[in-house]
Amino acid sequence: MKTSRRQFLKTGAAIGSAAAMGRSMRSFANVPAKDAVTPEISQFAYADVQLLDGPMLEQFNRNHAFFLALDDDRLLKPFRQRAGLPAPGEDMGGWYSFSSEFDPPKDMTGYVPGHTFGQYLSALSRAYAVTGSKPTQEKVQRLVQGFSATVTPKFYEGYCLPAYTFDKTNCGLIDAHEFAADPQALAVLNHATDAVLPFLPEKALTRSEQTARPHPNIAYTWDETYTLPENFYLAYKRGAGDRYRQLATRFLQDRDYFDSLAAGENVLPGEHAYSHVNALCSAFQCYLTTGSEKHLRAARNGFDFVLTTQSFATGGWGPNETFRKPGSGDMGASLTETHASFETPCGAYGHFKVARYLLRATGDSRYGDSMEKVLYNTILGALPMQEDGQTFYYSDYNNSAGKFFHHDKWPCCSGTFPQITADYGISSYFRSARAVYVNLYVPSKVTWNQGGANCVLTQRTQYPLVPETSLELQLDRAESFAIMLRIPAWAGSKTRAMVNGKAIQGVEPGKFMSVERNWRNGDRIEMQFDMPTRLEAVDPQHPNTVAFIQGPLALFAIDDGDIQATRAQMLAAQQLSRGSDTWKVNAVNFKPFWMIGREKYRLYHNIS
Ligand SMILES: [Zn+2]
Repeated sequence: MKTSRRQFLKTGAAIGSAAAMGRSMRSFANVPAKDAVTPEISQFAYADVQLLDGPMLEQFNRNHAFFLALDDDRLLKPFRQRAGLPAPGEDMGGWYSFSSEFDPPKDMTGYVPGHTFGQYLSALSRAYAVTGSKPTQEKVQRLVQGFSATVTPKFYEGYCLPAYTFDKTNCGLIDAHEFAADPQALAVLNHATDAVLPFLPEKALTRSEQTARPHPNIAYTWDETYTLPENFYLAYKRGAGDRYRQLATRFLQDRDYFDSLAAGENVLPGEHAYSHVNALCSAFQCYLTTGSEKHLRAARNGFDFVLTTQSFATGGWGPNETFRKPGSGDMGASLTETHASFETPCGAYGHFKVARYLLRATGDSRYGDSMEKVLYNTILGALPMQEDGQTFYYSDYNNSAGKFFHHDKWPCCSGTFPQITADYGISSYFRSARAVYVNLYVPSKVTWNQGGANCVLTQRTQYPLVPETSLELQLDRAESFAIMLRIPAWAGSKTRAMVNGKAIQGVEPGKFMSVERNWRNGDRIEMQFDMPTRLEAVDPQHPNTVAFIQGPLALFAIDDGDIQATRAQMLAAQQLSRGSDTWKVNAVNFKPFWMIGREKYRLYHNIS
């Protein structure tokens, strides 16, 4: 059964690409290929989930408007320059524009010209899918058209990270196709793939393998070929043709990464953090596309190692962008050694992506727990993009910390930032044939069809500052299904759920709670969360260096001094009032990350 279906799909895809070659660039035949594995839990379409007023919607809207307003000529400039075309417009600068100053690692100006173009395209395509904004769709189509004219292998001559940049270009083009209905995007991808292939190695290479090969400068040893398969598999499944499935297989980093992870071996220490979390998405897409259980195990174990051996109390990970050896005390040591504690937009983007995949495959609510932790304690507190390309990059957990922009303009994090904010909606709810999963407690509205009934679930909340949420159903007729409510693992014994004012049984921390009934128009669910306070040590080697946590929130002292508190004093800390953004310990104010501006703050405290 499986074989014949796959064979059929393979043939379908081959016919698709053959047909495309016979046609003009304008109409690339789109014959999507199906997954070998279809998890019971699926994602909603972007348009199905709308955020309502709150800091997440504000961040999404701001990024959407910012990238919609970026000048097309400036975005296309590096590609036009390399293609020998007229290239009007100012240089974007920073990592984005060619520069003779590039001298790695000392001067990173001109590092990877055009690298985030694909991510901006992806983010705009997703924003169009969320909002239906016509100007956004038109911009996506103009950018694809403009980029199409520039595609040439010459772009990659003397380019230090071809795989890194191409992976993002690929993502942008397949998203333009999938989410912004761009009629040319897959054909342009086909040309762009031809252009980059001569510059890619025969397989995924580790940094040490790259170092062992001839390289004009150190930047040539930093390419991330091991992240390519995810978007190659997606390209294949969205109808770009069978060669994308073959390319995905070619760049799977089995021998040096996935095989060990699948066998339960923690090989993360020493590796570059974000790209190796992102690579877990490649393992997961391999599982979906081919059914390889080994790759599902690799993604699960790898992410588990991140959550259990690499994470700060905020959910962020990888100080100085590097995974650390468990038992080394390195996480604690990093609090005085660096301000580059967590690569926030990229890290949060990768974290959400893997967590969504694994939640779908396993139904485990703890992936949702980890998403809300990263949301409130990291990405939601990112400083907004600046007109000149200054970008929030690292969250700082140093004992003397503050928020700051990255030294270089238009870095990687300027690409993932608008992508993750466009993904906020699809991260908030999931569905299966018989159920809707409420994953994040955020002001939002989800719309779907359940057995012929049109359903809208509206969530109103100020969670987590007010520890409750309210969900109301609008149905055009009564219908039976389950609503799955995430009960966080940290939830205390007084956590309650009510339907139409009546308490319901079965609240169990660390699980989705199934509330199944014949739902009627106007039915309401109310939840009250018991959020105990706790202290979390930075690592086992520093048991008295702790962060103050309540529910999903890591709380930051607004002061970079030592607060001189005892364990009991910290645990007794209280929010000033219901809904307040301030907690108090020994006369020091504590705030959640997204309520902090440019003041000094401190996450970890040495307690007696
Ligand atoms: Zn980044």
